[in-house]
Amino acid sequence: MRRWNGWGDEATNYPLPDSAARYLAGLVGDGPRLEDASLDEVLGSIRTPRLPAHPGISTDEKDRLLHARGQSLPDWVALRSGRIGAFPDGVAYPASDEDVRALLDYAKRAGAKVIPYGGGTSVVGHINPLPGDAPVLTMDLSRMNRLLAFDEASRLATFEAGAAGPEIEKQLNARGFTLGHFPQSFELSTLGGWIVTRSSGQQSLHYGRIENLFAGGRVETPAGALDLPPHPASAAGPDLRQILLGSEGRLGVVTRATVRVRPVPVYEKFLGFFFHDWEAGAEAVRAIVQAGLPVSMLRMSNALETSTTLALAGKADLVKLADRGLRLLRYGDGRSLLVMGVTDETGNRSLVWDIEGEAGRIIRAHGGLPTGTFIGKMWRKSRFHAPYLRNTLWERGYALDTLETAVPWSQVSATAEETQKVIREGLANIGERVLVFAHLSHVYNDGASIYVTYLFRRAADPSASLGASPDETLRRWHLLKDAASRVIVAHGGTISHQHGVGFDHLRYLPAEKGALGIDMLKSVCRQLDPDGMMNPGKLLEK
Ligand SMILES: Cc1cc2nc3c(=O)[nH]c(=O)nc-3n(C[C@H](O)[C@H](O)[C@H](O)COP(=O)(O)OP(=O)(O)OC[C@H]3O[C@@H](n4cnc5c(N)ncnc54)[C@H](O)[C@@H]3O)c2cc1C
Repeated sequence: MRRWNGWGDEATNYPLPDSAARYLAGLVGDGPRLEDASLDEVLGSIRTPRLPAHPGISTDEKDRLLHARGQSLPDWVALRSGRIGAFPDGVAYPASDEDVRALLDYAKRAGAKVIPYGGGTSVVGHINPLPGDAPVLTMDLSRMNRLLAFDEASRLATFEAGAAGPEIEKQLNARGFTLGHFPQSFELSTLGGWIVTRSSGQQSLHYGRIENLFAGGRVETPAGALDLPPHPASAAGPDLRQILLGSEGRLGVVTRATVRVRPVPVYEKFLGFFFHDWEAGAEAVRAIVQAGLPVSMLRMSNALETSTTLALAGKADLVKLADRGLRLLRYGDGRSLLVMGVTDETGNRSLVWDIEGEAGRIIRAHGGLPTGTFIGKMWRKSRFHAPYLRNTLWERGYALDTLETAVPWSQVSATAEETQKVIREGLANIGERVLVFAHLSHVYNDGASIYVTYLFRRAADPSASLGASPDETLRRWHLLKDAASRVIVAHGGTISHQHGVGFDHLRYLPAEKGALGIDMLKSVCRQLDPDGMMNPGKLLEK
């Protein structure tokens, strides 16, 4: 069963090894012991639903709670403190396009706002009802998870949009194919969610971002159904698919999507390399991508991310041994880890060896040290498990969040450095230390995305011996998030490379789109949703 106030399945845990707990305490201090609100307390705070009765809409309190918040840090603070504010008044589980259409008509008659809900893994407040007079209907697409059509010759598969990562891969793998879209939230996030948030999977270098994979689909909008045919390419005016991508539930409900699939790889591996410092690694990564070498992933961690990842893995003896060996080879405190993926679906081994050989040559020329597949295997094993650590860290008194951007190569170093600096120093005036580190997660010919992780102590409530202070924890997060967002904007970075805009990034969007651009987006919303009922207050104000 899914956790109501954290990440993932209740039966899955990620215990923190003692050595890792000591490592974190050394960097930011011991986490305070704080109590969270209980499920009963939270259920007791839910008000009477304001929607007229409908046989297909659940007004069950647990259902409403489970759809009230996503996975952003403010969402965690709200859920764990029980101060959730607004809940959906009802949750519908449509099973077909017709159900979705009928529910939109019902919502219009009831004067309700509608929030499409995929996996609820948003980290920027996308699916949260906002306080207001109108009732809120959340439409959970989880029953719409079937493969509807498979065109092997064209390598196109059409799914209902509520299909989550594992459901998609299971149905494709059975036919020898894969979508290859693996965001870290893969376990729970859905095709519809990926499309409307412009998601990026961990191996996007090989498979492409969701906008490369999305070939067409259907959206039920308040103004009617919009079909987007899966043309391989088209010069017939602006591409309407691009307007749907990133629309964040504002235009309607995506009910089905056709995606470009590929054969399951016959060969795949992830290799680890150490560099003397992050700058050298970043240069090597740039050279590899600009040489056009078809590797599937280049994840370049900085020194603190490298040491923290190894510390959290808990293999203290092994890490100590590796440390000694690496120091002998002059890979000291600045050593930074690259994980490189190689994927091949052709079965042509010599092609793979050529790619590995050429990438290896570039890496060595930048001082990189090959370490084989051991670290890559560890990364692969924990790639979807790592988010469970957030549950453990929270309970140990630590709040963890991530943010990301993309900038041209010429801006990468300065943006990464300054973003981390303002976060690292962001709570110094209250005597709190912040652990912050980064990696290049997705790389392109012209630039890269910078993915920043930061951890700070939750705040204790001075009036209670064990109690948490959600306001103060939230205030700390706001300070750090605002400071980092301002640096990103000042460097001309996008406010999001992959998480989207939602509620948390909304006020930074005008800097990126300009006033005219924002007006264009608003008029598209008005055209398809004249009454403003679709997910208001996300992506755009109102
Ligand atoms: C631990 C963790 C790791 C993550 N890793 C990544 C990552 O590697 N890459 C990445 O890109 N993102 C990542 N994310 C962010 C998140 O998973 C993505 O934004 C994802 O695309 C959201 O999909 P979802 O199905 O959960 O959508 P939801 O969270 O349910 O909704 C997100 C938005 O999409 C809308 N929506 C959902 N379904 C539909 C639909 N069918 N029609 C219309 N609108 C719809 C909602 O209204 C909302 O505005 C991560 C999040 C977490 C918590």
